[in-house]
Amino acid sequence: MLMTHEVFNQPAPLVDYNLFDTNRPLRDALKFNAPSLAPAELSALGARLGSAEMQTHARLANTHTPALHSHDRFGHRVDQVEFHPGYHELMKLSVSAGLHGTPWAGHSDSPHVLRAAGFMLFTELEPSTLCPISMTYAATPALRGNAAIHADWAPKLGSRAYDPALKLFSEKTGVTMGMGMTEKQGGSDVRANTTQALADGNDHWGQRFRLTGHKWFFSAPMCDAFLVLAQAPAGLSCFFLPRVLPDGTLNAIRIQRLKDKLGNKANASSEVEFESATAWLVGDEGRGIPQILEMGTMTRLDCALGTSGLMRQALSIALNHCAQRQAFGKPLINQPLMRNVLADLALESEAATALSIRLARAFDHATDSHEQAMARLLTPVAKFWICKRGSHFAQETMECLGGNGYVEEGGEGIMARIYREMPLNSIWEGAGNIMALDLLRALRKADAAAALAHELAPAKGAHTALDRLAAALPTRVEEMATEIEARRLAQDVALAVQAALLYQTAPAAVFSAFCDSRLAGNWGQAFGTLGAGTDFDALVHRAMPQ
Ligand SMILES: Cc1cc2nc3c(=O)[nH]c(=O)nc-3n(C[C@H](O)[C@H](O)[C@H](O)COP(=O)(O)OP(=O)(O)OC[C@H]3O[C@@H](n4cnc5c(N)ncnc54)[C@H](O)[C@@H]3O)c2cc1C
Repeated sequence: MLMTHEVFNQPAPLVDYNLFDTNRPLRDALKFNAPSLAPAELSALGARLGSAEMQTHARLANTHTPALHSHDRFGHRVDQVEFHPGYHELMKLSVSAGLHGTPWAGHSDSPHVLRAAGFMLFTELEPSTLCPISMTYAATPALRGNAAIHADWAPKLGSRAYDPALKLFSEKTGVTMGMGMTEKQGGSDVRANTTQALADGNDHWGQRFRLTGHKWFFSAPMCDAFLVLAQAPAGLSCFFLPRVLPDGTLNAIRIQRLKDKLGNKANASSEVEFESATAWLVGDEGRGIPQILEMGTMTRLDCALGTSGLMRQALSIALNHCAQRQAFGKPLINQPLMRNVLADLALESEAATALSIRLARAFDHATDSHEQAMARLLTPVAKFWICKRGSHFAQETMECLGGNGYVEEGGEGIMARIYREMPLNSIWEGAGNIMALDLLRALRKADAAAALAHELAPAKGAHTALDRLAAALPTRVEEMATEIEARRLAQDVALAVQAALLYQTAPAAVFSAFCDSRLAGNWGQAFGTLGAGTDFDALVHRAMPQ
């Protein structure tokens, strides 16, 4: 046998570890936002999500991507999507963990925070299968606009049984839901929708319509039902569109093709046409946009949660690699400049976690006026800022792994997936500009300046740069008249709230490093530019996934 070389200095993989127990920033954010939350359920989920078995399912579900079968072998339309068994294992776990619909049944004191933490952890394993999970979670507030349908479907939406069969909802142990707004001519401006809805009588689900038209993006077409927008006689309206009709026949939803996407490979995103498909009105005719936005608000929360989860996973992989990989005589993690990069990434990840979990808390206290204001204000802010930071973050964590990071099977087999996934949360469910403009709408309506001041008050006097920003924001919020500075405002609100949260949830070293860099300007344009006086050891130690 010829021996060419010995393999050494390649790190042991990050596998069979507990994603929850090793995530200090997340646990501290939970203690602050939901003090009575028992961590046992999340700890059990964290162990499962970090297992080699689940990592294999995630890899296979993304390698063997969904396939559309528009017709059967005899030429009948079937409109079915076939998935790898790994996909179904991932779906089974996320549904059994209650990430799809259980918070609305309110079994714990903080059901939305509990579910948010689980969703973040699951994203670390595999984000794309969470698309139907997120939409199922998000559907309930909007679906309540039709009491009869909600009464029939809510028990199945909250069921922890995953049932992928295409059959009548009443015969299924659990169901999932999707949404259809975007058409070829417009996604942000859905007023441009051309799908037509014609009245077709009444039944026990209320006013029935026939939909004819298309949707250009229709993710997770194998869901059991969808909320869709269409033009009714009184204007754009929200409809409930099941795949199987109450008489057991297939509804006329034609899947034209699946999208060939940059990432998000395990999720089947499709283009569809409705050929006089049967649907029921949800909410008032002509009020479709506010109705479906009740769903959009929840999916926007998930975009922030999801990106925070991806950041945490990318950071964990980078830390694991740098702790073991030697270069120039010592582990990379002990090289001062790499320590600056890792500490800076850790700060960004913790700030994203803190803001995401705080936003989830707002949905647990929907009758509290301050929490209502925070849900309205922080949803566009968190979605805008955290998702914007995601791609930059993924690139830098990838670079920590050197060339291995850029190779599919390199970075634990997931780094390349994370990099491809990152832009998506920024684009869908309202792209960056749409979020910044939505913040302006939120500011015009509520007594936003006072609510923001109240939110920042606990950190008053803790750092001069935060005090300066907090003092300036209410005036900027009140005077904000034009759109041109909307992104800047969304960024500054995000940074101020993140800083105030870190003061309350993180060690002093994290808070001061965040304020010094992000607020006081002792920072550069790239990660790894924290000031020399930063307590790098404290930041890196806190972030380690061991
Ligand atoms: C993988 C994937 C899955 C998806 N799944 C679904 C789904 O299941 N259901 C669904 O309904 N949609 C889905 N979408 C669609 C997605 O929500 C839209 O792509 C998104 O909302 C943007 O709409 P658009 O593509 O029409 O872009 P446009 O509306 O044309 O926007 C293009 C750009 O212009 C900006 N812009 C728009 N208006 C303004 C303005 N007034 N001022 C400044 N800037 C502006 C936007 O921010 C964006 O950056 C999916 C998208 C992707 C990529």
